[in-house]
Amino acid sequence: MKAVVFTLGCKVNSCESNSLIKGLEDLGFEVSDELEFADLYIINTCAVTKEAEKKSRQAIARVKKQNPLARIIVTGCASEKNPESFSRKNGVHVVTGTSSKEKILELIEENGQFIFPPETEYHELPLCKTIKSRAYVKIQDGCNNFCSYCIIPYLRGRSRSRSPESIKNEIIALNADETVLTAINLSAYNYEGKNLTCLIESLADVNTRIRFGSLEENVISEELLIALKNLKDFAPHFHLSLQSGSDNTLKAMNRKYTAKEYKDGVNLIRKYFPNAGITTDVIVGYPTETELDFIDSYNFIKEIEFSDVHAFCFSPREGTVAYKLKDLDGNVKRDRLNKLLELKEILKSRFISKNLQTFQDVIIEEFEDGYSCGYTGNYIKTYIKGRIENGKYKVCLTEKYKQGALAEIKEKL
Ligand code: SF4
Repeated sequence: MKAVVFTLGCKVNSCESNSLIKGLEDLGFEVSDELEFADLYIINTCAVTKEAEKKSRQAIARVKKQNPLARIIVTGCASEKNPESFSRKNGVHVVTGTSSKEKILELIEENGQFIFPPETEYHELPLCKTIKSRAYVKIQDGCNNFCSYCIIPYLRGRSRSRSPESIKNEIIALNADETVLTAINLSAYNYEGKNLTCLIESLADVNTRIRFGSLEENVISEELLIALKNLKDFAPHFHLSLQSGSDNTLKAMNRKYTAKEYKDGVNLIRKYFPNAGITTDVIVGYPTETELDFIDSYNFIKEIEFSDVHAFCFSPREGTVAYKLKDLDGNVKRDRLNKLLELKEILKSRFISKNLQTFQDVIIEEFEDGYSCGYTGNYIKTYIKGRIENGKYKVCLTEKYKQGALAEIKEKL
C-alpha cells in the first residue's frame, strides 16, 4: 500500500511528519512526502497565517485529483483551529488536531473527528527517518508567551519539553552531519528543571554539528554560550526573533524585552562568537506602529547589522489580541516592507563580503543548477561548481554568488 505524508508549515510539522513516515513504513506502507498517487494521505496542516490555512484546505482538493478513492487524514494546526471546515470536506475520513499525533497511526481505518485533549506533557513520536546531511530534531512543543499577533499558543497548547536522554538517543540514531534542534519555542525548553543550557551540556560529546532553530532573546546567557563553545561542533548561527526594533511596538506585541536588552544579547553572542550569523524575523505595519516607531525599528535593525532579515507585513489572525485592533492601510505596510527588504539586501551582502577569503566548514546537502550547495556554520549559502558527494568540507569562500558565495574545496572532513 502506498501512503503520502504531505506537510505544510514549520520545521516542527516536518519533524512530526518524518516520524509519521517512519511509523507508516514500520506498518508496511511504501511512503513518500511528495503529492503523488497513493492509497492513504496524511495532510499535516498549518494555520500561522490565513494564507497557510487556505493552502491546507486546497491540499485536500489536490490530493483528491491524485486519487479520488484514497483515504484522507487531516491533522495539524489548521484542523485544530477549525475541525469542522475539514470534516465536511468530501473524501476526508479522519480529522485530528495538534495533540497526540502519535495516535494517528491507530486511526488509519477509522472515520470521524478525533480532537484529543491538550497535551500536558511531551508526547514522543516514532524516531524520525535517518537523514544523512541535515536532520531536524523536535525538542519542545507549545508556547506560553501569547505574543499579541500569534495564534500558535491557542493551537499548540502550553509549553512542554522532551527529556534530554530521548533527544540525545534520537540525535545519535540519526547520525546526521548536522542536527537542527527545533521547537515551537526552543527558548522555553525546560524538562524537569533542566533548561536549554543543561540540554546543550548533555550533548557535548555527540558527533554532529548542532544548529539551533529560532530563538527568543531571553535565552541568551553566558552559561548557554559557554556550553555551546564546549560542543564538539556548533553552527554559530543565531536566528534571534526580534519582530520590532521599537520599544512601543514590542510592548504592544506583548514581546517580553526591550530593544536595549535585545542588543545586549547580540553583543554577548558576538563576545563568544565574533563572526556568528545573526538573523531575525521582523513584522512591519503592526496596527499600533506609527511612522516614528517604524523609523526606530528600521534604525535599530541597521545598527545591529544582522546577517539576514526575514520581514513580513502584519497579518491579522482571528482569535489573537491584535485581531481586535484596526489594521493599517495596505500601502503603508507594503511601503515599510519594501524599505526593510532594501536594508536586508545591504546587510546580507555586507556580511557575505566580510566572510570572503575565509575558511569555513560547509555541509553539502543538495545539487542546484550545476552547483553542489550547503551552508557554512554562520549560515551563508555556499556553491561549489560541479557535483560532489554530500558531506562536510573545509572550503574557502571566494566571491559573492546568488544569495550566498562561491567556494573552493580545501579538504573533505
Ligand atoms: S513566542 Fe510568540 S511568536 Fe513565538 S510561538 Fe510563542 S506566541 Fe507565537
